[in-house]
Amino acid sequence: MSQKAVVIGAGIAGLLAAAAMSRAVPEAEIVLLDRDVLPSGPANRRGVPQGQHAHLLMAGGSMAMESLFREDVRKRLFEAGAHEISLANGMLAYSPDAGWFRRYRRNGSRMITCTRGLLDWVVRETLLQQTTRLSIHQAVVEGLLGDAQRVRGVRISGADATLGSEVEADLVIDASGRGSRNIEWLTAIGVSAVQQRKIDSGLTNATRIYRTPPGAESFPLTMIQANPYSGRPGRSAMVLPIEGNRWMVSAGGTRGGEPPNDTQGFLDYIAGLPHPLVSQLISGAEPLTDVAVSRSTSNVRRYFEKSPVWPERFLVLGDALATFNPAYGQGMSVAALGAHDLFRELVRSDVSTPGLSRRVLLSAARHVDTAWSTAVAMDVLYPDVRGEKATIADRLAAGYARRLTRAATGSFNAATALWDVTSLKAPASRLLSPAALFATLNGPLLPRTNEPPLQPSERQILQRIMRGSEEPHGSR
Ligand SMILES: Cc1cc2nc3c(=O)[nH]c(=O)nc-3n(C[C@H](O)[C@H](O)[C@H](O)COP(=O)(O)OP(=O)(O)OC[C@H]3O[C@@H](n4cnc5c(N)ncnc54)[C@H](O)[C@@H]3O)c2cc1C
Repeated sequence: MSQKAVVIGAGIAGLLAAAAMSRAVPEAEIVLLDRDVLPSGPANRRGVPQGQHAHLLMAGGSMAMESLFREDVRKRLFEAGAHEISLANGMLAYSPDAGWFRRYRRNGSRMITCTRGLLDWVVRETLLQQTTRLSIHQAVVEGLLGDAQRVRGVRISGADATLGSEVEADLVIDASGRGSRNIEWLTAIGVSAVQQRKIDSGLTNATRIYRTPPGAESFPLTMIQANPYSGRPGRSAMVLPIEGNRWMVSAGGTRGGEPPNDTQGFLDYIAGLPHPLVSQLISGAEPLTDVAVSRSTSNVRRYFEKSPVWPERFLVLGDALATFNPAYGQGMSVAALGAHDLFRELVRSDVSTPGLSRRVLLSAARHVDTAWSTAVAMDVLYPDVRGEKATIADRLAAGYARRLTRAATGSFNAATALWDVTSLKAPASRLLSPAALFATLNGPLLPRTNEPPLQPSERQILQRIMRGSEEPHGSR
């Protein structure tokens, strides 16, 4: 039977949903619709404004992504300049509450860092090579065709003449991101009362790109984390290696502690963080851009999987399903894992099998649960958080996370449990495994350290950067 899928949105969720479809049902026709004309190379675009900011692809997401392609998509990313970072030894992370995390020789989870533009472009190119049955069109989806029993396609505007104003399909996947109008679309076909939760810490991100100082190409990813336990707004910053020998430097502050968008204000903000390492690193780096600011960072969850009525042949994935405070770097991984759930269901059954959409939504909700609990347990603690108040369960989770984080600074067992869950390689229950529980209750095996765990060669690089910043050309 010929099958046709319409995917709304060519962001990472839409691309990976299309990859899942093409891998599981190679003969299916896939129509990918996006309001933007997609760039012909790695570039930012209007429809994905968050692409100007740091995007880490966690291990759980990168493994799910890998399974959707015949080609080695990660290898392609690395060939294009992306970096692979080991959480165990490729990262310097400081928690104001717990000190610096130790580094370990052993390997742990690995994440991928590059610009969002590069990631989307490489994934899109790999997808286009995987299938000749995919067509990409510029169009704005305005609504759904069908009724509460079954969705039969989409209504569109602004499309070329080949598409007209309606596109019929055997399966419709909404991957139109944080701004999706899916609740409105569903209400219009008779599916109402979808529950929603929103928790907004008011996080603002400010990002600037720098040229990596010569010789510092292998310097670890560096992050000063926010402190949710202080009763004051969270403030953080990160230096992230990206393609083209560049550093992406992102600062983030919750409501009342937002970073400014002017260059001097940005530098002052970073200099005022509880540890000077990020400020020291950028003091000797050449800025390549202005400061870009983004404020769409709330946690929003739509409980479609709990809706008493759900139309067959309609699915929601990625940010259209749930969004998370980006400080935890989980949104793209949740999107990839949801696409993998779709792949698995399509291999087992068929687009026309009753209940397929509901099953995929139920599986995807499990990944959302993990990311949601990580983000919300911390976010509810910040001052002036909007949306729901912290529940007793949230406070208990936050208390446990605090102890675990302290233990993780000096215990490999605690650290791997934390990384496995934040990388979405394991569900949140992994934090309660006997080894993690034991390590958490015992606390760190080593005392708190306020000195970054730099190797001698890295210390030399830092000194060279700081010496360079004292020379006239380095003052910026
Ligand atoms: C500042 C910031 C930093 C982040 N950092 C990270 C990180 O480090 N790691 C991580 O995993 N996640 C991060 N995220 C989250 C990540 O950006 C999202 O989870 C991810 O983009 C979700 O992908 P998506 O495809 O669902 O949505 P998007 O990437 O937003 O794509 C949606 C697409 O749909 C299109 N579209 C929208 N409406 C329509 C319509 N009606 N018709 C047709 N097309 C439409 C848009 O043009 C766009 O192309 C961050 C988010 C922010 C805001």
